[in-house]
Amino acid sequence: TATDATSIHRENEAMSKQRVRDSGEQFAFQAEVTRLMDIIIHSLYSNKDIFLRELISNASDALDKIRFLSLTDKSVLGDGDTANLDIKIWLDPASKVLYIRDRGIGMTKDDLIKNLGTIAKSGTSAFLEQMQKGGDMNLIGQFGVGFYSVYLVADYVEVVSKHNDDAQYIWSSTADGSFAISEDTENEPLGRGTLIKIHLKEEAQEYGTEAKLKELVQRYSEFINFPIYLQTEKE
Ligand code: ADP
Ligand code: MG
Repeated sequence: TATDATSIHRENEAMSKQRVRDSGEQFAFQAEVTRLMDIIIHSLYSNKDIFLRELISNASDALDKIRFLSLTDKSVLGDGDTANLDIKIWLDPASKVLYIRDRGIGMTKDDLIKNLGTIAKSGTSAFLEQMQKGGDMNLIGQFGVGFYSVYLVADYVEVVSKHNDDAQYIWSSTADGSFAISEDTENEPLGRGTLIKIHLKEEAQEYGTEAKLKELVQRYSEFINFPIYLQTEKE
């Protein structure tokens, strides 16, 4: 039956999540980042839409960086698809995983460790303080910790990234105080850039529909200087 298929699917998914986490090198988030993620993942904040604005903004920043480098060295862009400075968003409705892929500068293993969890930013404690005073989650990007807003809608996130100077790596976390990093042997080669795999949580299933995504992409692409493609089922 459909219910059996869904529960088997969920079990398989949980097992494969575990596999990635067990096989990787484990890191503890900096203490304040752990607290921040805990607040975000348990947040009842209703405007969860903002996570997509933050991820699109990070993709755009990464594209700006590689475009800037390419002004003095065209070879950094590579050839074929890799040279297209764009953002692609798609959905797997069956597994409720949302994908955002950019062909920006990407992150080395070291970048993943430093930028996504271990190096404290001044904004982390400042934002925590604001949240404790009942501040607005919507301002998260201004504190330099916008990435973590993905846990408003996800209970598990994988960041697959390829920088010109390193191999392709996967960062993954269920926001439980730790993250895993491993060299990527399971995904397609990105060429260059970053793919965020957002495993939508039960309470955020509305983001698993094309209609909702279309609305959000339209809203948040307005001031982005790179093409954003929303790939839908029919294509
Ligand atoms: P901010 O964008 O204000 O620096 P974020 O929490 O949104 O803060 O992101 C933290 C850092 O993670 C970024 O500064 C960047 O170094 C890295 N990062 C996040 N997303 C990407 C991406 N798509 N490509 C490359 N680097 C990224
Ligand atoms: Mg950001």
